[in-house]
Amino acid sequence: MPLTRHLAAALLCLFLVACGSAPRLSQRSIYGDRPGPKGFNTVIIDAGHGGKDSGARARGLVEKQLALDVAKRLRSELWPGYKVVLMRDSDFFVDLDQRVARANRYGDAVLVSIHFNYGSRYRAGPETYYWRSDSYALAKRVQRNLSALAPYERDNAGLVRRRLRLTRNPALPCILVECGYLTNAKEAALVATSSYREKLAEAIARAIKDQARDGDAGMGPIPRPIYAPPSKAGDARG
Ligand SMILES: [Zn+2]
Repeated sequence: MPLTRHLAAALLCLFLVACGSAPRLSQRSIYGDRPGPKGFNTVIIDAGHGGKDSGARARGLVEKQLALDVAKRLRSELWPGYKVVLMRDSDFFVDLDQRVARANRYGDAVLVSIHFNYGSRYRAGPETYYWRSDSYALAKRVQRNLSALAPYERDNAGLVRRRLRLTRNPALPCILVECGYLTNAKEAALVATSSYREKLAEAIARAIKDQARDGDAGMGPIPRPIYAPPSKAGDARG
């Protein structure tokens, strides 16, 4: 029967399209209410800001440039052991919701957004933001490694659970890393050196590799999920 054959052909096409392009659905969750990632092979690196959005500017430093530099160093640390996707690889603007949509194309992946901080000149040190339960262990590993590296921590928030568009809205484990305060004289002087930025990238890469190997093991109790709606532009940050 021709009609049945057409139907069968159409269903086969749908099946092939679904298998070929869709991320593995078992890897996805819009709430992040599941264990942290283990054995993933793709890392999406998001250099914060770009183009018309320079991010923080302080002490002669520009956040968008430093974020891109650390993002590229992080790519070098991870590739070829991991497939690496750079959200931007030069100085152009990408809207936050576009970043979320692009990250959501990938299945077995984590998203790491790289930033530098702005605040009181007395504050110093790295901060790492997460929201989802499945992102906690990765965030904790990153913060621990960066904290061990940073010589001038003061009044920094450390590991923070906060709903940002890049910590809440992607359907995959995602964290946002503030690598240091550009407004602190000592930390800014360090961040201005390529050797320190290389150490930052190494520390983040080690955390990602540890997470891929061990999952949540050894990271203590995982916080309960929070079933909050997606983050919007009007929210406190990001
Ligand atoms: Zn930023």
